[in-house]
Amino acid sequence: MSNEQLWQAVLGEIELSLSKANFSTWFRNTFIASFDNERVVVGVPSGFVKSWLENKFKKDITITIESILNQKVKEIHFQIEALKHTNNKPTTNISAASQPTPAKNTATHPASQSAASGSHGKNRFGLNPRYTFQNFVRGTGNDLAYAACQAVVTNPGKAYNPLFVYGGVGLGKTHLIQALGHELVKRSLSLMYATSEAFINDYIGVVKGGAAREFKQRYRDVDVLIVDDIQFMAGHDGTQQEFFHVFNDLHQADKQIIIASDRPPKAIPGLEKRLLSRFEWGMIADVVPPDIDTRVAILKTKCKERSWDLHEDVIGFLASNIQNNVRELEGALNRLIAYHEFNNTTPTIESTKTVLNALIANLQAKSKTPKTIIEIVSRYYGINNKDIIGKCRKKELVTPRQIIMFLMREECGASFPAIGEELGGRDHTTAMHACNKIGSNIENDIKLKKDIDSIKNMLQEYCLSA
Ligand code: ADP
Ligand code: MG
Repeated sequence: MSNEQLWQAVLGEIELSLSKANFSTWFRNTFIASFDNERVVVGVPSGFVKSWLENKFKKDITITIESILNQKVKEIHFQIEALKHTNNKPTTNISAASQPTPAKNTATHPASQSAASGSHGKNRFGLNPRYTFQNFVRGTGNDLAYAACQAVVTNPGKAYNPLFVYGGVGLGKTHLIQALGHELVKRSLSLMYATSEAFINDYIGVVKGGAAREFKQRYRDVDVLIVDDIQFMAGHDGTQQEFFHVFNDLHQADKQIIIASDRPPKAIPGLEKRLLSRFEWGMIADVVPPDIDTRVAILKTKCKERSWDLHEDVIGFLASNIQNNVRELEGALNRLIAYHEFNNTTPTIESTKTVLNALIANLQAKSKTPKTIIEIVSRYYGINNKDIIGKCRKKELVTPRQIIMFLMREECGASFPAIGEELGGRDHTTAMHACNKIGSNIENDIKLKKDIDSIKNMLQEYCLSA
């Protein structure tokens, strides 16, 4: 296996556990620069990305390489180095494929690249091997959705079709529908998991002259179709029409359709009426934040997965302090473990308090840095940060620039003159205009809203784990 192939496989795995925007922001233009004597050097495009990958992904990358190669990795090192496009084709493709579709740059990658994003990972159906029922905790917040999944396992295509699961970010929707997917695969059903973004990109590929026949077959030749984050299909009229046909064909043939969304069908703006009514044919189940007992059980499961023994009191303390989001709960646990592994100590309530406080303080302190906002927005749009604060008035620079100003105001409470100053000495009226414009456009422009939400999530995550 060449370094390129290896890195491609690693990215395939990692991509499964991240949003597309996040994945692209941090892994674009990364590659394996060298690998010898159990020592891996990963090339990264900037210091910003380097420190993020070191802090956040070192362990994941190591484990993934080890599991792919079935051999130990002693050392992993990140080094700032430019990607030579000709030599690293697969990585280049990933980076293009995962571009978060900024203004002009709607995805242009070939269809075969995107759908079932895990096709280049381990599981050929696109499922993350870690997302099983075995390590999913059933609790009050997900009870209905969990029961619906079990009904689908026993009677696929008939019990609830479609099964539509919705709820806030980080509450286990993806984990749950993928766990259901694993169970259905075990019953010898053929399956395809795709995010709605992958579906959109595939469809755009067809519109641009791609393999229409192959596209049609790929989504119809399955017993089970899982589409995650369907809300991103809102506003993509052509794609919705196509999905409508796929849906009908599958449904008529009693093939199971499973959908996840961050909100109920009715609340997805720009969703075609006939799709909405289709979604309401089956079962709609919500997930809400877990109660304290479930949070405790989740923490215990995560500790077990990582073979880490944590005192009941500490678990209780974490569970009572982080309430709304399982992903954050997991993030805090990881942070706690990392801290104590590093210091070779055992977590106590006191030390957990320190770590959590640092986490919160970090979040506040770091999100207040206009520089971080500039960095993240530029990476999100794949634009050089000098260009983004520069004078050029091209549309693909102007919108991201205005988003930066808007976020500096929203996230840091910066004054208009201060924002102007950060953006290369612009006048305060420019900042004011930008903030007003984005503030009002966000109401009607779904894509803009989605971009800003993604950026905010990234900011939050960046600050949490810094
Ligand atoms: P969503 O798709 O709703 O944004 P995810 O499925 O990505 O959320 O879940 C975020 C993280 O939280 C994942 O690592 C997942 O394993 C974990 N998680 C969420 N709910 C549970 C649960 N009930 N039991 C175990 N892990 C959970
Ligand atoms: Mg999800």
